[in-house]
Amino acid sequence: TLPDRDAEARVRADDRAHVFHSWSAQALIDPLPVAGGDGATFWDYAGNSYLDFSSQLVNLNLGHQHPDLVRAIQEQAGRLATIQPSMANDVRGDLARRIAEVAGDGFEKVFFTNGGADANENAVRMARLVTGRRKVLSMYRSYHGNTSTAITLTGDPRRWQNEPADGSVAHFFGPYPYRSAFHSSSQEQETQRALEHLEQTIVLEGASTIAAIIIETVVGTNGVLVPPPGYLAGVRELCDRFGIVYIADEVMVGFGRIGEWFAFQAFDVTPDLITFAKGVNSGYVPLGGVVISERIASHFDTLTFPGGLTYSGHPLACAAGVATFEVFERDGILERVRDLGTRVVEPRLREMAERHPSIGDVRGRGLFWAIELVKDRGTREQLVPFNASGKDAAPMAEIAAACKAEGVWPFTHFNRMHVAPPLVIAEDELVRGLNVIDRALTSADRHVR
Ligand code: PLP
Repeated sequence: TLPDRDAEARVRADDRAHVFHSWSAQALIDPLPVAGGDGATFWDYAGNSYLDFSSQLVNLNLGHQHPDLVRAIQEQAGRLATIQPSMANDVRGDLARRIAEVAGDGFEKVFFTNGGADANENAVRMARLVTGRRKVLSMYRSYHGNTSTAITLTGDPRRWQNEPADGSVAHFFGPYPYRSAFHSSSQEQETQRALEHLEQTIVLEGASTIAAIIIETVVGTNGVLVPPPGYLAGVRELCDRFGIVYIADEVMVGFGRIGEWFAFQAFDVTPDLITFAKGVNSGYVPLGGVVISERIASHFDTLTFPGGLTYSGHPLACAAGVATFEVFERDGILERVRDLGTRVVEPRLREMAERHPSIGDVRGRGLFWAIELVKDRGTREQLVPFNASGKDAAPMAEIAAACKAEGVWPFTHFNRMHVAPPLVIAEDELVRGLNVIDRALTSADRHVR
């Protein structure tokens, strides 16, 4: 596209003057003015285009301007643009049925929300009402959203300045074989010790006071931490033994990111509540929700559920969700993700790890991978410290800049780069993006001792 400097200046001026941005010191940011997008690519007003290796905020699973999703929203807008949640609506019911079907046996009902945080907020509320208990356990190294309970559940620095928003939350360590909190030397040991630690936490926090344990099935922003074999099954067993509700936060990894409808389906386990958002309709219209197991749903057959949202199950959002199901089924998206993950991404990242001394670990599944960067492979000292910002984060900023200079928009977080492109990315685009990351990592290699 041709540069349009006037439009760029206008967009930037309004943004800088009037838009208050998330998670930022307002005077220290310079948001990229974006002019448009198509598939896995978006472009600015200066004539640069970027391959989106971060799927925006890991939500753009079907890419920009997918014709089926756009058409579904347009048609729904022409038919009935909105309807309040206490009425029955065709697309809302259609989407709820499809979600319950792919969630599997024991799931029939869906409570729709506006996004992921309020999905977690309402899942916790259900668990508290059903168990009559208040406390919730969640992991360090997690993100669950930015409302009061969801941010308290979060186990990363975004929580620190927001406490105490919910007094009844305690954190525990999840498995992380590369940086084990349990001094494990194998996956089996990590599973066993992480479960012993969780059991101790339950006992010491008071099993009879704990309503729920919430876990990102594959930890997302905090590291693409894939649970080692047996871990989630062990969590399920502990929840059953102590009468605790198991909430799977599938906001980032649900709807195909790792090649399954829901990520828990890859780990032989069934939670009691599933929260979702992002990929359900690629964020074309805000939508999230809770998939509710029969046992919990039936609690509210005759008791009132004390919660609701004006836009719960918004028809425009649900129409895009129904179209998402149609595209996934017609185009074999889940199979595509598994194939590209095992045939293209994994071998390439493992091969890069052999050549780049800055790569300490690569891990992931489907189209969701982390490259963890270190200064020293022996000690595993991180390339930049935990929660690095400003000058401390410069080595990561250099890598990101090198990617952008070659037309790839990367996802970086602390000392990691994640690979999370739209699930519809063409194979040659995927290879091109990996080539760019490969070259950019030579700048990380310079920091290695
Ligand atoms: N849970 C997880 C695992 C997430 O990754 C996110 C968002 O990144 C959320 C919850 C919050 O979702 P939302 O930003 O839609 O409220």
